[in-house]
Amino acid sequence: MTQTIFMVGARGAGKTTVGSALAKTLGYKFVDTDLALLCTSGLSVADIVEREGWEGFRRRETETLKAICSPLTVVATGGGVVLSQENRDFMCENGTVIYLRSPASTLANRLEDTPLEDQRPTLTGKPITEEMMEVLNEREALYQEAAHHVVDGTQEPQTVVNLIMDALALPMV
Ligand code: ADP
Ligand code: MG
Repeated sequence: MTQTIFMVGARGAGKTTVGSALAKTLGYKFVDTDLALLCTSGLSVADIVEREGWEGFRRRETETLKAICSPLTVVATGGGVVLSQENRDFMCENGTVIYLRSPASTLANRLEDTPLEDQRPTLTGKPITEEMMEVLNEREALYQEAAHHVVDGTQEPQTVVNLIMDALALPMV
């Protein structure tokens, strides 16, 4: 199992937190698509959305996803990566996709505790729990469709890493 591991899920699902812990456990490289995009373009997600709209951001996100896909790498994707069929197919064909699943209330609680400057722009401008419910309504089926494994993301990060190791049938190191 040396393919890329793609972490998918909504904002606050733990893609960055759990993804980097998983990479450490496996001795894999860790890449975050939002950070990779920042490195190559010099622009944050918020900057790109402001200049080019979500459409421009999505196009760049797809390019980034393809550019950073490599063996022995854990990739934390952006929450909306599954909206594109092209992205879903690419991840499915080129790696193992893990969906970190948590209810809207858990996601909202986590995001409320995260400093604003570290957050991606909100999609709707609505209260955070409402927005997360809408986002999950829209995307839950797509996350499920894209994923090879659905993992309970409400557990402590290290427990989630262990659940993923189990799902991948990898021995605990
Ligand atoms: P994502 O990259 O999916 O948007 P992050 O990894 O940035 O999510 O996590 C968002 C916030 O939630 C952070 O403050 C992080 O510390 C916290 N968090 C992430 N995963 C967990 C978890 N399994 N249990 C508790 N808190 C978590
Ligand atoms: Mg993240």
